[in-house]
Amino acid sequence: MKMIRLLPHTPSAILAAGLALASAVPLRAASVTWIEAERFDDPGGWTIDTQFIDQMGSAYLLADGLGTPVTDAVTRVELPAPGRRRLWVRARDWVPEHHPGRFRVMLDGRDAGREFGASGRAGWTWEDGGAHDVGRTVELRLHDLSGTYGRCDAVVLAEDLDWKPPTDRAAIDALRLAHGGVGAAIRDAGDYDVVVVGGGLAGCMAAVASARTGARTALVQNRAVLGGNGSTEILVPPVGVWPRGRDDRREPRDTGIIEEAGLAGAQGDADTRHWSARLRRIADATPDLSLFLETHVTGVGLATNAAGAIREVRAIGTRTGARSRFGAKVFVDCTGDGAVGVAAGAIHRHGREARSMYGESMAPEEPNATTMGNSLKFAARKTDAPQPFATPPWATEFALCDHFPEGRHPASPNPPLGWQWMIELGGLQNTYLEKEEIRDDLLRLVYGIWSHIKNECPKLREEAVPYRLQWVGAVTGMRESRRLIGDHVLTENDIAGQVLFPDRVAFGGWGLDDHFSDGFFTRGQPARHPHKGLLHSVPFRSLYSTNVPNLLMAGRNISASHVGMGSTRVMMTCAVIGQAAGTAAALCAERGLTPRDLGRSHVEDLQQQILKDGAHIIGLPNTDPRDLARAATATASSEGVEPTGERMAAAHALDGFARAAGGAGHAWRADATRPGPHWLQLAWNAPRTFNCVHVTFQTRDLAPAGFRIEAPEGDGWRTLADIRSRHRRHVVPLDRVTAARLRIVPSFAAGICEVRVYDEPARTLDIARRIAATRDLPSTPDERWPWETPEEAARAAAAVPAMRAGLDSETVAKKYGAIVMDDGVAGLTGRWTASAHSSPYIGLGYLNDGDEEKGAKKAVFHPQLPGPGRYEIRLAYTTLGNRASNTPVTIFTTSGPRTVRVNQRKAPAIDGLLHSLGVFDLAAGPEARIEVSNGDTDGYVVVDALLLIPAP
Ligand SMILES: Cc1cc2nc3c(=O)[nH]c(=O)nc-3n(C[C@H](O)[C@H](O)[C@H](O)COP(=O)(O)OP(=O)(O)OC[C@H]3O[C@@H](n4cnc5c(N)ncnc54)[C@H](O)[C@@H]3O)c2cc1C
Repeated sequence: MKMIRLLPHTPSAILAAGLALASAVPLRAASVTWIEAERFDDPGGWTIDTQFIDQMGSAYLLADGLGTPVTDAVTRVELPAPGRRRLWVRARDWVPEHHPGRFRVMLDGRDAGREFGASGRAGWTWEDGGAHDVGRTVELRLHDLSGTYGRCDAVVLAEDLDWKPPTDRAAIDALRLAHGGVGAAIRDAGDYDVVVVGGGLAGCMAAVASARTGARTALVQNRAVLGGNGSTEILVPPVGVWPRGRDDRREPRDTGIIEEAGLAGAQGDADTRHWSARLRRIADATPDLSLFLETHVTGVGLATNAAGAIREVRAIGTRTGARSRFGAKVFVDCTGDGAVGVAAGAIHRHGREARSMYGESMAPEEPNATTMGNSLKFAARKTDAPQPFATPPWATEFALCDHFPEGRHPASPNPPLGWQWMIELGGLQNTYLEKEEIRDDLLRLVYGIWSHIKNECPKLREEAVPYRLQWVGAVTGMRESRRLIGDHVLTENDIAGQVLFPDRVAFGGWGLDDHFSDGFFTRGQPARHPHKGLLHSVPFRSLYSTNVPNLLMAGRNISASHVGMGSTRVMMTCAVIGQAAGTAAALCAERGLTPRDLGRSHVEDLQQQILKDGAHIIGLPNTDPRDLARAATATASSEGVEPTGERMAAAHALDGFARAAGGAGHAWRADATRPGPHWLQLAWNAPRTFNCVHVTFQTRDLAPAGFRIEAPEGDGWRTLADIRSRHRRHVVPLDRVTAARLRIVPSFAAGICEVRVYDEPARTLDIARRIAATRDLPSTPDERWPWETPEEAARAAAAVPAMRAGLDSETVAKKYGAIVMDDGVAGLTGRWTASAHSSPYIGLGYLNDGDEEKGAKKAVFHPQLPGPGRYEIRLAYTTLGNRASNTPVTIFTTSGPRTVRVNQRKAPAIDGLLHSLGVFDLAAGPEARIEVSNGDTDGYVVVDALLLIPAP
């Protein structure tokens, strides 16, 4: 026997009530035909809006045509018999003073004779379409009149001409159930170890981590795409630890599974096209992870035998109305709104705590229900012709530039997506319950801004003449609603004081980014943001409910105060928190523990698993007893020195820290001025058997183009793996081998922070292979902005270099009859940055000097020549306007050094790839060398490769 407890104001809550109510309306019910608009045979140009199911009871059709009426939605309906019927339409006049969303309804091609969506009443209402004679089958057509967000929830044909549809929400939902608007049966979607609800960055990482850790996992997401606010529907660019720019290039910021998306988390507009598809790719490649899209969780079933534990979540298909259940041992709430937790009776909070509660300086004196607001974004496009735009009467009015609060006036006709975070409203309302009203206010605001740009602004309207409104988001981006309370509430003081919790499992470093609740209309700055970049830990106790025993949470609904969530809410941080929560969920399911028990008695296991999977926990070293490298000693071909003077000792690769942290590099790097190959060796006092090696470089930018893993064979070394792919961290499956030594040979002197060595089960190796195969795939046309045509998306995808996009050295060598020395074999002085930003290039990318520390950087090539001779030497580089016009290349010839200056602002003359430096006599042996330096240069110095072609 189980008890079903349901969210208030959700279909399921009503459905439960509706089962009883249905019997109260059977006669009426028998005489009406109910048609859900979102289930029309052909929605035409209408879109199905599924985001307000909790608030208004259903998905509905939305006429989102940017001001141009959308094409008709059409369906055919079978009636029990022909006859006279009264037409009822559930519609919304979303601005009652102006009726922007008007539409007509046709029955078998005949206009019903009135406009819908123009009732003059606020909210969802039934509009009477009059009585009509209809046949046994009737064609229904929704004919949009405005293209400005008309909306239709359901159409009803009533045999009893005096019957009126109920206005009471419970009765409406009962009718929906009785007439098939919602599926009668509840499909069993299965029992899992872990169910994760919500597919934003937090939920995706939680689900992937859970499945990789060994739990049969379901990810239930109510949208058609993954990514939450970072999705291609909303276009918020994920960030995490505040970027410290050039201050410390050794720090990789947010790490773990999220790195596999291959995106910087650098808040750039360009990233936003990629996230949904890349998350999907990662999820699809994960074994034991089942993904359920367009599935909205509406309630939970609680077990009676354990105090309040969740036994299942119940869901509804957002487009189909089909109902389903998902059972699990452990649940992770990543809905952002704490939807699962609130349904399960989890203690939760909405709004700002009083200052006295946690002693937070940024908290108000008195508690209040205000929050940060919701947002929409928009995009415009420049065309070849004037694009008039008539200001809609319902748009927010900005007749003059100074009607905008300071700093909120757009600076261009197509303001960057990044800037548009300021289009924020609703912080003074209930961002969850009043989500549709807030969305509508945001639409009015966006159209008001656009109208000002096009028609009123003396600064922009000329420039804006050829611009057309291209896209206006209709899916709300939410910053804040309910937060679930755990055993610890993370506060401003924890973050500002950088408290190192013993049970820390994740970290953040964005700073306390708190927006004022007036949002766009705040006078002065719309947000305050102290403690930028201050790294802080996140305790496990903030990731599980204090009263629902099998509920974890990740993302913006974790247990933090309003002020504290200012840091944890950014998406890369949500992602690393998600990984921690998902890993914990899997361990709980496997061991039959509650999260609290896991945290109390086994937190080290959790922490070690998180570290093993590439995430970072401040100040916590690898102590994994299964890691064979822990018992090895490290030596190296040579040891370099950081510009700071820090020695880059071989032992650093085994010191337990997989990244620079707290001012220490924690990395071995060879002395780059010495000729390669450079190697790091691990040696044991007796042979070890292993089949998997983890190699972690400093950052992806500082990682080499490739590396080899070798074991001794006879007097030499046998290659166990030859990796040709640039990433910060590699988990390399091997054929099982027994050896007392092991060598890592990077293709150039790159810093290695950690080497781990394991004997792993086949499943772990399989996962490693899947990761390696997935993360190097090129971009695809589905990584696209909502306003792009498929052709534009295909062109854009082709322009994004895949990580393997460079020209292959062997092909280049054959084509030019040359000895090719890629940048990876150069000995380096000073810190060079690896890049693959511009094409074409050879191998996996090229190096640049960062346009800094002039005179302190050199890339030295030592050609291995078969004998002395004459060679034409060509330099490969990629060109851009920011390059040095005077890059010195010194060739050490048999008659002494000769320096040639190269203008790297000009494209290389040979195939846009190579620049000839001349013909030189070279000796065989170490005297022959070529040095590219950055001394006295006036821009970025770029080194891709050197080619030596025997000259006649
Ligand atoms: C306009 C705006 C600008 C921002 N700027 C930035 C920024 O620049 N960088 C940054 O990193 N962060 C930014 N943020 C904050 C950040 O986007 C959020 O804090 C973050 O998205 C939280 O991630 P999440 O995974 O917890 O939730 P979300 O991204 O909200 O994802 C939750 C997912 O769960 C789904 N869901 C909800 N309820 C259910 C249910 N009942 N059943 C099934 N699925 C459900 C939702 O549809 C959604 O897809 C911004 C937010 C906004 C709104």
